[in-house]
Amino acid sequence: MTATMNSLNSHQYWESLRTKGFCLPQCQACKEFHFYLRPACPACGSVEIEPVVVSGRGQLYSFSVVYRAPSAAFEKDVPYVVAIVATDEGPHLMTRLVGVKPEDVVIGMRVAVKDWRTSSLPAEHPSLGQAPPLFESAVP
Ligand SMILES: [Zn+2]
Repeated sequence: MTATMNSLNSHQYWESLRTKGFCLPQCQACKEFHFYLRPACPACGSVEIEPVVVSGRGQLYSFSVVYRAPSAAFEKDVPYVVAIVATDEGPHLMTRLVGVKPEDVVIGMRVAVKDWRTSSLPAEHPSLGQAPPLFESAVP
C-alpha cells in the first residue's frame, strides 16, 4: 500500500514565504488553514495543500519572557519575548514578539507579522525573507 502525500515540501513552503509573502498552508479541498505544514490536511485528509498569503495578523495567545540567554548568540537579545500567536486565519504558531517591552506584553493583544508582505498590505511592501517570521504589536 502506498500513501499519497501532499507534494508541497518544507523547502517549497519556506521559499513561498520568501517570494510571495507571509503564507500559511491551506487545504484546497476544505479551505482550512493549518500550521505547521503536514503531509495531508488535518481537517479532511486531502493532500491538495497550497501556501496562501494571509493577513499576517492575530492575537497573542501565550508568551514567556527569556531573561537568561540559552547561548552566547542570544546574549544581545535578552530579555526577549517568546510568543504563541493565534493567527486570524486560525493556526497558532510559535514566534518572537519584538519591539515591545516585556512588561507591556498582554495576552490577547493584537499583533502583526513584521516586515513581510501580507494580503492586508500593498504588494510593494517588502518581504525581507527573514526566517522565521517575527511579530510586533499592532493597532487593534
Ligand atoms: Zn481539508
